[in-house]
Amino acid sequence: MAANGNKVGSKRRKNLPYNVILLDIEGTTTPITFVKDTLFPYARKNVEKYLNNNWESEECQQDIIALQKQSEKDKDLEGVISICKSEDIKGMDEKSRQNLINSVVKSVAWLMDADRKVTALKQLQGHIWTKGYEDGELKGEIYDDVVPALKRWTSLGYKVYIYSSGSVEAQKLLFGYSTEGNLLKFFSGHFDTKIGLKIESESYQNIAKSIEEDPSAILFVTDVVKEAEAATEAGVETVISVRPGNSPLSNADKQTYKTIESFDELLQDEDLDPKKKKTLLESQNVELNKTPTVTGV
Ligand SMILES: [Mg+2]
Repeated sequence: MAANGNKVGSKRRKNLPYNVILLDIEGTTTPITFVKDTLFPYARKNVEKYLNNNWESEECQQDIIALQKQSEKDKDLEGVISICKSEDIKGMDEKSRQNLINSVVKSVAWLMDADRKVTALKQLQGHIWTKGYEDGELKGEIYDDVVPALKRWTSLGYKVYIYSSGSVEAQKLLFGYSTEGNLLKFFSGHFDTKIGLKIESESYQNIAKSIEEDPSAILFVTDVVKEAEAATEAGVETVISVRPGNSPLSNADKQTYKTIESFDELLQDEDLDPKKKKTLLESQNVELNKTPTVTGV
């Protein structure tokens, strides 16, 4: 691997046997601050607008009912904002509607302040983000070196998958409406915690099984050492992504894992296995053959 080839002593083989690149999102393709500094504040700011604009939709009604139920469950907690039960949300008069909206807005702020991971909140946030992306108000932030690497890897025949704690739906929004356009075409598939937690080695075995690859044919890129440990235990080759704002690595971590600061460092020409190199050369020849001959040169 080009620039950092000597960082790890290393067990790395000269010719890489990978077929698949498995990418984490936060701290890897995307700044670690994106969720905290962009997505969460956006959801908080847009609860009222979302409820007003989508009041009549079944989805919005379900969101309100779920939050009402949650506030019932939380009724003994300090500072809880209760949301009055309403049998007929659609047929409500304007004043009751405004009261209900106000209590939902306050309740969501309270849940978010307490960093609650409850389904009712996650579901509403997901719907607000979907609208935000669709309306062009939100764009998934992607590091500059990501798209050139995705193009390079996929043109060489590598398959690229995403594995993130964020739901598959959220992943598709982030990459589908990214600062670099719709990137979904580069991915062969997406995994979230339904396949298992990212810090458990079994999850990586499950992914390998589900894509019908040997774990050793997978290269996983993440910023989190515990995830790297789990993947390594499963026999998956792992590289740690060092991006601005990521948690610092200990010296021992730097000794154990290969690190990269940019995807430019991953799977460059000199890292290719001979079969892939042949394919690359052939595809380049095809490209050359397509070039119109300039006469008289
Ligand atoms: Mg991460």
